[in-house]
Amino acid sequence: MSDFNIDSAILLVVEEVAGERPLAVDQEGRYQGLPPVDGEDYHPLDEHRLREAPFRVLVSCLISLRTKDEVTGPATERLFNLADTPAKMAALSAEKIAATIYPAGFYNRKGETIREVSRRLAEEYNSTVPDTIEELIKLKGVGRKTANLVVTVGHGKPGICVDTHVHRIANRWGYVSTKTPDATEHALRKKLPAKYWIPINSLLVVFGRNRCKPTSPLCSDCPLSDLCPRLAVTRSR
Ligand code: SF4
Repeated sequence: MSDFNIDSAILLVVEEVAGERPLAVDQEGRYQGLPPVDGEDYHPLDEHRLREAPFRVLVSCLISLRTKDEVTGPATERLFNLADTPAKMAALSAEKIAATIYPAGFYNRKGETIREVSRRLAEEYNSTVPDTIEELIKLKGVGRKTANLVVTVGHGKPGICVDTHVHRIANRWGYVSTKTPDATEHALRKKLPAKYWIPINSLLVVFGRNRCKPTSPLCSDCPLSDLCPRLAVTRSR
């Protein structure tokens, strides 16, 4: 459905989630509130933190798989207190990394992945985290979702991080018609106005958890109800 008004929808989502803490970025300490929708003023931190940020975002994403936000944030913090650069991280054993991020899910496997990724960054990338999706997905354990989050949140460059919430909601809106998050990312790259590329993930993660839930979304008093065709929604409240 091409006539879906994305500007109105995003505005309503922003109003709905105002005051909520963003979920995708708060663990990096990048924001006190939701990211600005206009994309200006996106990186309030100083240059040193900016250089440090992409590695933090990357490692935090690797820790976050099948792990609650409440666990991921502190685990990232503990690990970065031990090692805040790829070289220092690679000098730790996989067992030490695993023990430090425990109780994150699959902590043993993640310990190995984080050490291997850090070693490659130190040895092959001069300890800098790549800023393109193509380079990032060459790293062990890094898929498009993580790569987009590193590019957008870590480097402040254009990208669209499509997770399950963004994929589901964009399809319910009829803004895209896709089967997978990767296909949604490609479709959004073609039509989503650039100013929404970075903030859409944080906005829809909050909106998707609180309102447009995976099963039985809260449609009856949804501020978007006049706008939303609710495609493929079979049960709602
Ligand atoms: S009306 Fe329902 S399906 Fe549409 S955005 Fe709101 S909660 Fe989601």
